[in-house]
Amino acid sequence: MQLTHKIALCPTPEQVDYFKRACGTARRVWNWALNEWNRQYAAGGRPNAMALKKQFNAIKYTDPQWLDENGRPWLQDIHRDAHAQPFRNLAKAWERFFADLKEGKEAHEPRLKKKGRCRDSFYVANDKFTLKGKTIRLPRIGEVAMTEELRFAGRILGATVSRTADRWFVAIQVEVPDAQFYRRRTSHEVNGIDLGIKAAATISSGEVIEAPKPLKAALRRLEIRSRRLSRKLEAARKAAGFERHARLPEGTRLPVSNNRRKSAAALARLHARIANIRADFTHKLTTRLCRENQALVIEDLNVKGMLQNEKLARAISDVGFGMLRSQLEYKARRYGTQLTIADRWYPSSRLCSICGWKNEALTLRDRTWVCAQCGAHHDRDLNAALNLKRLATETALPVASPSSNGGAAAGTVPAVVGKVTPVRYDGGQQDASGQEENAD
Ligand SMILES: [Zn+2]
Repeated sequence: MQLTHKIALCPTPEQVDYFKRACGTARRVWNWALNEWNRQYAAGGRPNAMALKKQFNAIKYTDPQWLDENGRPWLQDIHRDAHAQPFRNLAKAWERFFADLKEGKEAHEPRLKKKGRCRDSFYVANDKFTLKGKTIRLPRIGEVAMTEELRFAGRILGATVSRTADRWFVAIQVEVPDAQFYRRRTSHEVNGIDLGIKAAATISSGEVIEAPKPLKAALRRLEIRSRRLSRKLEAARKAAGFERHARLPEGTRLPVSNNRRKSAAALARLHARIANIRADFTHKLTTRLCRENQALVIEDLNVKGMLQNEKLARAISDVGFGMLRSQLEYKARRYGTQLTIADRWYPSSRLCSICGWKNEALTLRDRTWVCAQCGAHHDRDLNAALNLKRLATETALPVASPSSNGGAAAGTVPAVVGKVTPVRYDGGQQDASGQEENAD
């Protein structure tokens, strides 16, 4: 089993300089490879990463575009892993693209990386670095201090150095023994989780989890700082003689003032801080959920479709739904928790969790409602969580299918109202028994 530990680095200015150049190299090689791939494909060829790498190796020390102004091949200054890995990454990106296409998912073609707009990173193979306590020895630059030791014991597979705002990190991939990968649960509940519009998460046990307070404060500051930066950008446009909303011609570079650079750096740091608060929050929440539950159900929120709705956008991006889901997915494996993702058409908010009546008139604004059939009073979020919980057991309420890929429970399960059968627990390993067959 593979685990990754991401550790902050404390590099010297010279090391930072090397990191930046290595990231730039990785980016330029990626772009070269992707352009070449597309060119060969358009010409009827069948490009592949290995052949492209060979082709690149043949020119990388001689082709004028890879020489500096003195005619020296500048790639020689950067360790070769940084310029070899982009080919493998590109192959993986295409594989993912075709796999998504095949599965009918939304597929994204690999795209060119733009300086300042992409994630800065480069790769180091496992035989090219060594670890000693809180020090990592990297090729070309020697020892770099880390803020903590590697947490996992096992075979080291590789490392990626990356930048977030003005901080540098190394993510070390380790193959760990099963005993280290699997974790014991502390209890074996079954819960549905409604992810929030109002609260960050509402658990079917009745617990309501709020988004962290510092996040709200930071988001307010973010608005202020973004405004400051856009005013500076505005001023730069005006100074360069452009109208307020005029489109700048392709390739225009506005002069960057010191103040604008400082303002942009402050904004980037704040973005990084917000990301940290979110990550810390979701990590703690998802660990706790998996540790305490043998079965969890969440909704498959169509994040992209939802972001078009402004009100929802804020709520969802505040808690970082995508991050929450991917953390739940890998932690559920570690804790042997059965994770069910409810179909996005499953009307968890609209069904009465007691009698199954469907409230067609429910709007986003209704925080509470009363069931017209049984008279139950519902808190919107708790009711949704309770309906989700039912999907993990044999008690899901039947749902009239709105389309062929219909409700998650789509009439396949009898309505055994009120009786909840927990899924069987067998000592920490995943077990699908007791799980209904809708989670395909
Ligand atoms: Zn009812």
